[in-house]
Amino acid sequence: MEPEDRIKYAKRALDGIALGDCFGQTFFMPDETARQKIRDREILKEPWYFTDDTVMAIGIYRVLEKHGKIDQDELAKVFAENYALDWHRGYGGTAHSILRSIGEGTNWREAASNAFDGMGSMGNGGAMRAAPIGAYFADDMDKVLHYAKASAEVTHAHIEGIAGAMAAAAASALLLNKKQGCYFGEGAVFLRDVADKLPESDTKYKILSAVPIKKESSIDYAVSVLGNGMMLTAQDTVPFCLWCAAYHYASVEEALWTAVSALGDRDTICAIVGGMVSLYADELPQQWLDYVERPETSVFFRSGQA
Ligand SMILES: [Mg+2]
Repeated sequence: MEPEDRIKYAKRALDGIALGDCFGQTFFMPDETARQKIRDREILKEPWYFTDDTVMAIGIYRVLEKHGKIDQDELAKVFAENYALDWHRGYGGTAHSILRSIGEGTNWREAASNAFDGMGSMGNGGAMRAAPIGAYFADDMDKVLHYAKASAEVTHAHIEGIAGAMAAAAASALLLNKKQGCYFGEGAVFLRDVADKLPESDTKYKILSAVPIKKESSIDYAVSVLGNGMMLTAQDTVPFCLWCAAYHYASVEEALWTAVSALGDRDTICAIVGGMVSLYADELPQQWLDYVERPETSVFFRSGQA
């Protein structure tokens, strides 16, 4: 792939993350109200604002653009800078302390591995920002997995947090390959192909447990097996996202309506799904984009320029 194509697809993935993040965020309301709006396919007719998922994905995109790879020290710096610019973007409790600590000069390795009493975070934050890496290195799966792992490690030292990022990046690469006619898996085959690329982890086996769940299965059933991000962990979030992408990759709107139906951690579920399925789409739905806060006009997009 030519360098300009790499960055073009990474931007597409970033735009998909922003779209999903913004869309999902508008459904934070009592669950019954959200369910009714989802049944009616009723979108909010006001500006949609993105959250930490998009801010951190902008950091990934900018580091790829500047360095052609994930430089972990640089990525940590960009994450901390963007956190300091605006920390009211829905970061999780652990992310606040890690990013504040990096901003105060602590090495990211120390900050990330100190989380959760030295266990490291198994949160879904590595996965929510990984799609641009899958897009950028889509013609080299070893690099996809290597740099997805590197990108997660800056904040997520636990294997589940890392495996979640690897899964989201691998799935993004496969969907771009599918678009380009060099990969043909979908449904159960797609789910197995992603799981095969992952280290031994709950995330991997939860993805495999999605294999028998049919496209026609109810969302409630899928959520009961796969989770919906309520636990905020990678293994409780990423498997459902992959199941959505496996069966709804051909329509960004259908993928995101299915994703948000899980409720749970809806901005992050939709960010992960949006990032992945944007890579198969010819274009993102313009009638939704009209409401979306755009990454490239935000203050965060200047990150990593110094
Ligand atoms: Mg968020």
